[in-house]
Formats: sequence, structure tokens, C-alpha cells
Amino acid sequence: MKAYIWTIGCQMNRAESIALGADLQSLGFEPVRNAREADIVVLNTCVVRQSAEDKVRGMLGFVSGIKSARPHMHIAVTGCFVEEDVKELNRLFPFVDHFFGPGRLQDFHGWLCNRILKRDTDIVRIEIQQISPVSAYLPIIQGCNNFCSYCIVPYRRGRERSRPAQEILAEAEELVKRGAREIVLLGQNVNTYGHDLSPASDLSRLLYMLSDLNGLHRIRFLTNHPKDMSESLIQAIKGLPKVCRHVCLPLQAGDDEVLKKMNRGYTRDDYFALLARVRQSVQYMAISTDLIVGFPGETEQQFNNSYAAIKSLRFDTVHVAAYSSRPGTAACAKYLDDVPQQIKLDRLHAIEELQSGIQSEINGALVGTTAEILVEGTKAGKWYGRTGSDRLVFFKDERDLKGQLVEVEIQTASPWALQGVATPVRSL
Ligand code: SF4
Repeated sequence: MKAYIWTIGCQMNRAESIALGADLQSLGFEPVRNAREADIVVLNTCVVRQSAEDKVRGMLGFVSGIKSARPHMHIAVTGCFVEEDVKELNRLFPFVDHFFGPGRLQDFHGWLCNRILKRDTDIVRIEIQQISPVSAYLPIIQGCNNFCSYCIVPYRRGRERSRPAQEILAEAEELVKRGAREIVLLGQNVNTYGHDLSPASDLSRLLYMLSDLNGLHRIRFLTNHPKDMSESLIQAIKGLPKVCRHVCLPLQAGDDEVLKKMNRGYTRDDYFALLARVRQSVQYMAISTDLIVGFPGETEQQFNNSYAAIKSLRFDTVHVAAYSSRPGTAACAKYLDDVPQQIKLDRLHAIEELQSGIQSEINGALVGTTAEILVEGTKAGKWYGRTGSDRLVFFKDERDLKGQLVEVEIQTASPWALQGVATPVRSL
């Protein structure tokens, strides 16, 4: 039996697809790269933007065509396209055999065993797998309690549910045994990790526990809601050498009225104060952010406030997106999506151009310095890897350096990547 998994969307989706693939393989399925060859197709979907939803609908049409020619093929759909009540989805897409909500891996396993393989459902602990020989995703908290007005995630992934620290630790140990040197902790908002556990815990405590793992070299995490960024986390980043000095703190808008309409729970001044505190506490901290342009009613002045914030805060990376109205969200119900598409795109390009200049300057200043790179693999005849601050670095070397920490002297820089020459410092 052959299985094909198609994935779109965030790192959580990618992590869940890796787990689904592991489950399929443990049940004897062989992975294939083409849906036409598969006995089972799993679509792991995203509806955070209209463009993503359009791709999902396109893919559904595509696999429906394949299934008409190969009726024995099974189709399962998961991810944020799947609503709590699947009646309407079943009516619209009758060729789909099973819809299951995001993260509901046990549900998928039960369906696969009972309905497809016709065997008893064993209690399964779905094994996590690595995203590369060096790095692995490890989800630590599911769902979100924030209800940002533009976001569909809390309606599809539900409220926050933290995984017990011992479970996370056991998986991390297993990953390290298989050769992972970097673990990326995932959650819609990792900053609230542990508040729902008994006894309550938090991300900083988890980082201290994970830091004790021999063989693990780097720990990353994303995403951090600015309103929940605690002092204990800032101190853990500062004090724990394995924790990368890199956080993703989505600003989303640099204007107070827009932030209020987005229900983000902080003002522009709160955000500026947080960044100043983080940067003062932790030297060389890399900060990335997300920004939405063209939110309903966003005036030229309000956009200028976002532009000025990006200019002044000098982020290491900015992911900018044009607002996309999502049915089912508060913003869609309350506000007219009234910023014309061309203006949204002009604003998006203005931010991209601004940020490209900032990244050129930040990266340019690294020429002549030495950075520690965790080597991931090769591309076009060069080794590549990332710095602790998540910068991509390429270099040429004859030795096999995969999975090693290497000191690289930076020789040239562009806004998106650095090039250099290497001297291995230690083998892991
Ligand atoms: S914090 Fe806001 S944007 Fe992020 S997943 Fe939760 S509701 Fe969505």
C-alpha cells in the first residue's frame, strides 16, 4: 500500500504531517511522491489566507479527478480547512472518505485501522520524526486562546492544551538518539505553555529541562505572543547557552487603533517597551516579526505608523502579508474588507523594500565576523546551515560536515543569506 501526503501552511502542519507519515509507515504504507500512485492521500490544509484556501480547493479538485479513475483510493483531509462540524464538508466533498481536525492524529489512526486496514486499533504513540537529519519540530502546545480578530486558528484548533513536560522530554531524548542536534518547539503561542497543566509550568522551566539533554545542541521555539512574553523566559534565553537568541514576536500593526481592532492585547508603546527590555537583557538577540497590511479600514496614516515602526525597530526578519478576510472570524463579521487590493499590494511591497534595505545593513555588518553554524546539508555544491540567530549561511568545504557545528568567517552578505569560509570547531 502506498501513501501520499500533501501539506500547506504553518510549521505545526508540517510537524503533524511528519507524524502522520510516521504512523502510515509504521502500519506498512510506503511513501510516494505522486498522488496518482497512492492508495491513500492525506491533504493537510490551511485556510489562514484566501490564497491558501484556494490552493486547498484546487488540490481537492485534483484528487477528486484521480479518484474517479481509481475509485479504490482513499482520501483523508485534515488541517484548518476542517471545521468542528463536518456535515457540510461531507456534503460538498463526497469523494473525501474522512475529515479529521488539525492535530487529531489518534482519530486518523483509528479510522485507518478500523475502516481501511480492517484491524483492531492499537493504542498508538505516534512517533515524531525529524524534518532534517539535524533538526526536528516538537509541538508543545496546541490551540490558541487569543482570538485575534482576523484569525481562524482558535476556531479550528480549539483552546490551548499543553503537553506534559515529561512527554516532551521523552520525545526530545528519542530525537537526539536519532541524531537531531536542534529541536524547534512549536505552538501557536508558546509563551503560554504550561499554564493549563497541573501543577502549572512555563516555557522557561521546559527550556531548563531540555537544556540538560546531552547531545542536543540548539533549542528554538515559535511563536511568542508579545503580551505573554515573561521576564523568566527572557532570563532563560539569556542564561541557557543551548537556547538560540532568536524570538518571533509578531507585531501585526504599528497603530493603536488597528491593534485594538485586531484584538492583539497590546499597544504600540507596549511593544516598543518589550523590545527595548528584551534587547537590553539579551545581547545579540535576533527578533523576527509578522505584519499585516490592509486590515479593514487601515488609513494611509495608520499604514505609515506600521511603516515607521518597522523602520525604527529594525527587525532581523519581517513576514508581511496583505489582509485576507476569513469567514468565521470576528474581523470578517464586523468589518468591511475595504482596502483595495492594489493598495494592499503597494503597502506590502513598501514594507518588503524597507525591510530588504534593513536586512542588507544588518547582514552587511556581519561581513568579517565569525558565526557558529549548525550544518544542515548541501545545495548547489555548497554546505548550508543556520546561525543561532537563524541566518542562512553557505560555504564550500570538501569535508563531510553534516550535523556539525562549524565556525564560518562571513565574507559576503545579501539581505537573505551570507557566504563564508569554514573551520570545523567540534564534532557532535
Ligand atoms: S495568537 Fe492570534 S494570530 Fe496567533 S494563532 Fe492565536 S488567534 Fe491566531
